[in-house]
Amino acid sequence: MGKILEYYPISRLTTLRIGGCTRFFAEAESVEELKSLIRQATRSGIPHCIIGRGSNLLASDEGYSGMLLRLKSGQLGRIVKFDGRLSVEASVPTGHFCAFCARNGIGDFEFLCGIPGTIGGAVVMNAGAHGKSVGDFVESVRFLHKNGITISNAQPQFSYRHCQLGGLDVLLSVILHTDGPPVPDEEIRRRQLELRRWRNDHQPIGASAGSIFKNPIGHSAGKLIDDVGLKGYTIGGAQISEMHGNFIINQGNATCKDVLALIELIRGTIRQKFAIELQLEVHYLGISGFENI
Ligand SMILES: Cc1cc2nc3c(=O)[nH]c(=O)nc-3n(C[C@H](O)[C@H](O)[C@H](O)COP(=O)(O)OP(=O)(O)OC[C@H]3O[C@@H](n4cnc5c(N)ncnc54)[C@H](O)[C@@H]3O)c2cc1C
Repeated sequence: MGKILEYYPISRLTTLRIGGCTRFFAEAESVEELKSLIRQATRSGIPHCIIGRGSNLLASDEGYSGMLLRLKSGQLGRIVKFDGRLSVEASVPTGHFCAFCARNGIGDFEFLCGIPGTIGGAVVMNAGAHGKSVGDFVESVRFLHKNGITISNAQPQFSYRHCQLGGLDVLLSVILHTDGPPVPDEEIRRRQLELRRWRNDHQPIGASAGSIFKNPIGHSAGKLIDDVGLKGYTIGGAQISEMHGNFIINQGNATCKDVLALIELIRGTIRQKFAIELQLEVHYLGISGFENI
C-alpha cells in the first residue's frame, strides 16, 4: 500500500502551483487500494476527493481538510486496443495517450494533444479543443460509485466541459470508439506538432489552470476579457495573461485569494459591460462557500 502523507502541499499537485496543505494525500496503485483508502477516510469521518494532474483546479490557501487521492499510472495506467475501440485507464496522462494513438495510426484524438492532465480528468471535464470533445468518443465508463460498488458499462451524459454521471466517486476507466480511418503515424505526429505549435502561439506558458471561464454561447470568454481591457491586469502575484485573456498566470507567489479577486473583477466587469454572467470552467477545491468538488 502506498504511503498516506500528512499535510502535503496542494501547490505541488496543481499546474497553477497554488494551494495550502491537504490533511492527507495518497496515491492508489490498484482499485482495491483505492477502495481501502476511501474506507479509511470514511471511517475517520473525513471527506475525500480524487484528482488527476490538477490542471483544472484552483485550491484554497487554507488547503483541504480531507484526503486527496490520485490514481498511480503504473498498474492503473493501461491502454488496450480491441475491435475499433480503446480501453483506457483513468490515470493515463493525455500526453501518453496521444503518443499511443500516434504509434497505432489512430487520428481521432489529435485535439487532445497539448491538453495537460489525465484521461480521467479529460472525461470528467469533457475536455476538448478545435471543435471536438472527449465525450464525443465515449462509449462507456467504469466507475466507483459513492456507495462503494464498481459499476461498468455506464453511459454518462456530456455537455460543454461537463460530464453527468449519477453517484460518480472515482472514474476508473473509459471505452472510447475510434471511428476514423487509419492514419500513417508520421502524419499524426506532424498534425500533433502543428497543434502544439498553435498552442505555443496562442496560449501563455506560465503556471495556469488553462481557461478559467467557459465560453458563453456565441462568445469567446478570452475575447470579452480582452475587449474590456483587462489583459495584463495583476493582483498580488496573479496576472490575467497578456497573451490570452481567459488564462490567469501565477507569476511565482500568487495566492488563491489573488486569483479569486481577479475572477470577481472579471465577472463584475463583464456583467456590467455586456450583461453576461461568466461561468467557471476551473474547479474549486477547499474554497468555503464554493465547494464544487
Ligand atoms: C496550459 C493548459 C491548457 C489547457 N487547455 C485545455 C483545452 O484546450 N481544453 C480543455 O478542455 N481543457 C484544457 N485545460 C484544462 C485541463 O487540462 C483539462 O480540464 C484536463 O482534462 C483536466 O485533467 P486533470 O487530470 O488535470 O484533472 P484535475 O484538474 O486533476 O481534475 C479536474 C476535475 O476532474 C475530477 N477528476 C479528475 N480525475 C478524476 C477521476 N479519475 N474520477 C473522478 N473525478 C476526477 C477532479 O475531482 C476535478 O473535479 C488546460 C489546462 C492547462 C493548464
